[in-house]
Amino acid sequence: MYFAKRNSEEPEIVIENTVVYACESASCNGWMRKDFASENYVCPMCGSQLIEEVRELPKIQTDFNSFK
Ligand SMILES: [Zn+2]
Repeated sequence: MYFAKRNSEEPEIVIENTVVYACESASCNGWMRKDFASENYVCPMCGSQLIEEVRELPKIQTDFNSFK
C-alpha cells in the first residue's frame, strides 16, 4: 500500500519584514523589493516616484550566498 505522506522536507515559507519601494500612484500597484531596486527609484510600470515602506513578504530562498 502506498500512503501519501506529508513531505517534511518541504521548505517552509518564512515571512519577514521586507523593505520595498512602492509606487506613490494610487492607480498603480507597482512596487519592488529594495534589494532588487535600481538606483533610480522610479516605478517600472508608470514612472512615478517610489515610496519606501515595509511589507511582510515571503523570504526569498536562495541556493547560494549572493551577498557581495
Ligand atoms: Zn507606478
